[in-house]
Amino acid sequence: MVLAQLGGSISRALQQMNNATIIDEKVLTECLNEITRALLQADVEFKLVRDMQTNIKKIVNFDDLATGHNKRRIIQEAVFNELCKMLDPGKPSFIPKKGKTSVVMFVGLQGSGKTTTCTKYAFYHQKKGWKPALVCADTFRAGAFDQLKQNATKAKIPFYGSYTESDPVRIAVEGVERFKKENCDLIIVDTSGRHKQEAALFEEMRQVSEATKPDLVIFVMDSSIGQAAFDQARAFKQSIAVGAVIVTKMDGHAKGGGALSAVAATKSPVIFIGTGEHMDEFEDFDVKRFVSRLLGMGDWSGFMDKIHEVVPMDQQPELLQKLSEGNFTLRIMYEQFQNILKMGPISQVFSMLPGFSAELMPKGREKESQAKIKRYMTMMDSMTNEELDSANPKLMNESRMIRIARGSGHKIKDVSEMMDEYRRLAKIWSKMKGLKIPKKGDMSAL
Ligand code: GDP
Repeated sequence: MVLAQLGGSISRALQQMNNATIIDEKVLTECLNEITRALLQADVEFKLVRDMQTNIKKIVNFDDLATGHNKRRIIQEAVFNELCKMLDPGKPSFIPKKGKTSVVMFVGLQGSGKTTTCTKYAFYHQKKGWKPALVCADTFRAGAFDQLKQNATKAKIPFYGSYTESDPVRIAVEGVERFKKENCDLIIVDTSGRHKQEAALFEEMRQVSEATKPDLVIFVMDSSIGQAAFDQARAFKQSIAVGAVIVTKMDGHAKGGGALSAVAATKSPVIFIGTGEHMDEFEDFDVKRFVSRLLGMGDWSGFMDKIHEVVPMDQQPELLQKLSEGNFTLRIMYEQFQNILKMGPISQVFSMLPGFSAELMPKGREKESQAKIKRYMTMMDSMTNEELDSANPKLMNESRMIRIARGSGHKIKDVSEMMDEYRRLAKIWSKMKGLKIPKKGDMSAL
């Protein structure tokens, strides 16, 4: 089950509970059974799901809950918190610091996305002012060095490797020493993968680790491997001191639940997720943020980060004010579109905004969606100020629609499609009226 579907199923189970007139034990059990089914279908490990169910039942004790307590809210919060708990095994074993030399070694099976992720990790830190460097100690896969070299060159990150040297330990040591001398603060060592978890792979990994003494070992895992994730994560963890995990390919049709529960079970936190093949398709993993996005609550903290990144400082308070007033006008939609087009990897930003995700912006069809947004904006350019600033869709009568279609060189049917989109978004955003937009990491207001 794809993660978006998992989120949808859980949200639907909670919604069905909301529709019930009385919330009693039976309704709760039905709701939890639905959630359990969805989690198991998404390959989350059985024991974790069972524990979660038991914990929620303990929290929501109907005998203790006096009448007047908002049971729906308590249940929803319990589901949210338990999902977070399930995915949060604590802090990584080591957190590199800018300006202080750290060696980070990447391990994982071949094809998991290890080499790509090394560069993404370096690029991410470089953008934040670090001085990263890449060492290719993958001598097993022909082409690994070329791939790393190509990526590193594109991102202007120093790299070290060899076409002729076949001893990965030697390359790793030479690379680490060289970049220590050059005062790099994040030395990233990419190691070999194999198709299977073979003894030779683990032995080589141990040797590279002993020789380079990494401060942190990051295990890279492909999210599409489903239930196999558990054994794989455990095998790596038993062979080397894995301190953190990066889950890749979260953009695809991933059975992400398997990978996520496996890392939870091995007690190594996910620190980043890979969401595409490009260098910047890489996100911090924040459990609360992830679960709220999963449940379709919208990723407020991610959205806020993006707002701070791209909306000019002087416009930020105004935008937030408008959002909390809940009057979603066409002008706000226009401004959001402008921001979205500016924000870069468009699909990622969309997925953070409540309502802007799947329907308007199907994954893999970014170009079309971008064209659609631009088309909508051209039509809105032919609107009057009154039309743009009104939150009353009834204002837009037939004669106004004909005028806008003519003025923008589109068909009435196109204007009508844009208005449908506006109404859909307005409906979602109207629910936010009066909502306190939470500060980073605080989802309790949702
Ligand atoms: P390695 O053998 O583990 O070093 O794997 P690579 O870095 O060569 O990646 C294997 C394939 O997965 C390549 O085609 C990458 O472009 C692709 N890949 C890596 N990370 C992601 C991701 O987050 N999303 C998607 N869609 N593809 C990815």
